[in-house]
Amino acid sequence: MLGLGIESTAHTFSCAAIEKRGRKGRILSDVRKIFRPDKGKGIHPREASRHHVENSPAVLSQCLKEAGISIKDLDLVSYAAGPGLGPCLRVGAVVARSLASFYKIPIYPVNHAIGHIELGKLLTGAANPLVLLVSGGHTMLLAFLNRQWRVFGETLDITLGQLLDQFGRSIGFASPCGKNIEALALSSSRYVALPYSVKGNDVSFSGLLSATKSAAAKGNLADACYSLQETAFAMISEAVERALSFTGKKELMIVGGVAANKRLSAMLKEACRRHGCNFFVVPIRYAGDCGSQICWTGLLESQVKPGVPIKDAFVTQSWRLDSVRVDY
Ligand code: AMP
Ligand code: MG
Repeated sequence: MLGLGIESTAHTFSCAAIEKRGRKGRILSDVRKIFRPDKGKGIHPREASRHHVENSPAVLSQCLKEAGISIKDLDLVSYAAGPGLGPCLRVGAVVARSLASFYKIPIYPVNHAIGHIELGKLLTGAANPLVLLVSGGHTMLLAFLNRQWRVFGETLDITLGQLLDQFGRSIGFASPCGKNIEALALSSSRYVALPYSVKGNDVSFSGLLSATKSAAAKGNLADACYSLQETAFAMISEAVERALSFTGKKELMIVGGVAANKRLSAMLKEACRRHGCNFFVVPIRYAGDCGSQICWTGLLESQVKPGVPIKDAFVTQSWRLDSVRVDY
């Protein structure tokens, strides 16, 4: 089976082609164009969607060229149908619907968050993990039970990615800022006390964001970055450890853009060691949003379902992953 996957939930427009044989998948190409707002600014949905419209033809052509295939070779096309920013989601859906209706290819709407998880499982080999999904749009702890992903903890306000990006923008970085904060944090080991807020198995980051902005305004930026990472990642680690004890899982897998952070991985690896649990982290190239996540999930869906009618190939901005039934 040969699939094309289209991602356009937020900052990234990406197309990827994957060949699936049995349970194995081979990524033939994964091409991305990322919308970069001006320094200090967040993603404006309409500006990002204009970026996606302008770049979609070149990204699609490049994806097919690198994979050495033509549209007529495709067995299916899948697109990220949510959750995400409405204007951005619609660009990917329009491209997918156009291909599907013109070339008569089956079309599959895919939940973006499930895309992160399924590609993570393909690339790491994790079989039945507790999943930590940490990205711009999500901060969730999940385990699979009775055909659905169940939430064992999540953020009560902003996500871990938003915490890093909003703080980063306040000190003059351009979004996404996680990588710059990680680099600056390496030059400090001086901890400034910041609010730590774990409620049950959920976390809350908004107080931490305000306090870190104040600490940065008064003191040293590297100390603020270091302390922000230590506090936020310790909160996540506490929730992970409790969920590991509760679920008895013997695998932890981290996925999402923030999974690229080495300090977060080091802390979670240590937590896994204490629980006799195997630790998996999605390869850095596939941590952030990309077409491969959507393509692979579409290919998995096609094992158990025909594509949807074009009239049902729409988008849902707030499509929670724990409402999706997984039958493959
Ligand atoms: P996604 O929404 O999955 O594409 O992930 C994007 C998020 O990942 C943004 O909030 C980035 O700031 C964050 N991110 C990317 N690289 C890193 C890193 N090295 N450390 C922390 N966060 C990161
Ligand atoms: Mg994402």
